[in-house]
Amino acid sequence: MMKILTGMISHETNVFSNIVTDLRKFEERALLRGREGLDFYVGTRSPIGGFIDASRAYGFDLVPTIFASASPSGKVTDEAFEALLGEVLRGIRENRDLDGVLLHLHGAGVTESSDDLEGEVLRAIREEVGGAPIISTFDFHANYTELMLREADILVGWDTYPHVDSYERSMDAGRLMKALLEGELKPTSVMKKPPMMPAPQAQYTGRHPMKTVMERACGVEKEEGVANVTVAGGFPWSDHKDVGAAVIVTTNNDAGLAEEKAQEIADLIWSLRRDFLVRPTTVREALREAMKAKGPYVLADIGDNPGGGAPSDGTFVLKAMLEMGVRDAVLAVMWDPEAVAKAIEAGVGNKVILRVGGKTDQFHGEPVEVTGRVRIISDGRFQHKGPMMTGVWTEMGRTVVLECDGIDLIIAERRLQPTDLQLYRSLGIEPTEKRIIVVKSSVHYRASHEPIAERVIELDTPGLTSPRLASLPFKRIRRPIFPLDPEMLGIVELKGFEEE
Ligand SMILES: [Zn+2]
Repeated sequence: MMKILTGMISHETNVFSNIVTDLRKFEERALLRGREGLDFYVGTRSPIGGFIDASRAYGFDLVPTIFASASPSGKVTDEAFEALLGEVLRGIRENRDLDGVLLHLHGAGVTESSDDLEGEVLRAIREEVGGAPIISTFDFHANYTELMLREADILVGWDTYPHVDSYERSMDAGRLMKALLEGELKPTSVMKKPPMMPAPQAQYTGRHPMKTVMERACGVEKEEGVANVTVAGGFPWSDHKDVGAAVIVTTNNDAGLAEEKAQEIADLIWSLRRDFLVRPTTVREALREAMKAKGPYVLADIGDNPGGGAPSDGTFVLKAMLEMGVRDAVLAVMWDPEAVAKAIEAGVGNKVILRVGGKTDQFHGEPVEVTGRVRIISDGRFQHKGPMMTGVWTEMGRTVVLECDGIDLIIAERRLQPTDLQLYRSLGIEPTEKRIIVVKSSVHYRASHEPIAERVIELDTPGLTSPRLASLPFKRIRRPIFPLDPEMLGIVELKGFEEE
């Protein structure tokens, strides 16, 4: 049996966030060790669930190390990074007879002392395992670097946003590992990075332009000699020189083919760049429309998405809802541990006056005073029904539903974007019966909410994940870059961007 080490270190770092990502932040979301990790993910459609099933399919003896993931937030402390990496390296040292390594890394991690968390992980593992193959899967928002490309044998990126294919890509990684170990595959990769950092809201793979790009990428992947095609949208708010979109084509020992196909897809993305602009609707205009509708109208507070590192305590939408007298609505999810504690102190059925939200930084509005009745107090645990992370249990900490003038305000102790309808149902709220559902999310909400929505509207809210990228003080990205620099929108086609 082939012995394959596995592990996960996942963080999407928004360097503009003042929330420090220490070990506790990983403990709050996922920090599992050894067999405990495999037991947690077995049977789920998640990256590690995929590795477990791939091992059964391809006859691997899977050696677990650490499975760590924290909600997107500010830089990962060096202490946390070294502790997590140290556990993976210890697993390698205790298993000197390893045949290979299968990892899941996010790809947009930044630590206090490195812009390239994943490159550092891969370099450290390479030093330990020598020539043994390393294959890693990555989030669609990875900011790929030359270091990652050099230190790993194959980089397999997810193909979807919302991310509904993490399981399938882990199965791919397992299949490629088997082919590599049996000598049938000699991976040869080429990466191309057009000078673009599209806002994540424009990276939704369910519509043009990303849909067009991914269809082409999947077509190329089926061609003779091509082993894997990875396209990433990138994550702008990591703010470093490698931020942005990327194409990686891996062939079976054919550098020319890899070069040709990677360039072709990169050229396609570049040619479509003007379609990667986001045009959100003002909050009040959207609310006016929604109030007239039968619903559900799903209104996305895309500027305050905790899944992209925003605090999830922005108050612009809530304030407008209260002022406009919105009824029959639910807002998911306001992060405010202090308000949760006060509501719990008041108790179920009782009226309470709270100052909610606007407590983290200066980008997301002021606290708003609300008067409401505490309807539900929950431990915030629910199991995903899908289509994202189906089967995985999530904990949002102690959670309350505050009923205020026709608005069900969900307030939780932990930051979590609403990707699954079980979030509402676990709190006794039936989302299909609401006229308005406000979600703090950029794109992920679409997978579960679009099927029940009469209409979806993206709100033009300020915040750390606003598609108005110029609203944040980027310092370290390479310039010029689309869409920040006007010449990159260009009427004139720029050729040969990859030479610069
Ligand atoms: Zn992502």
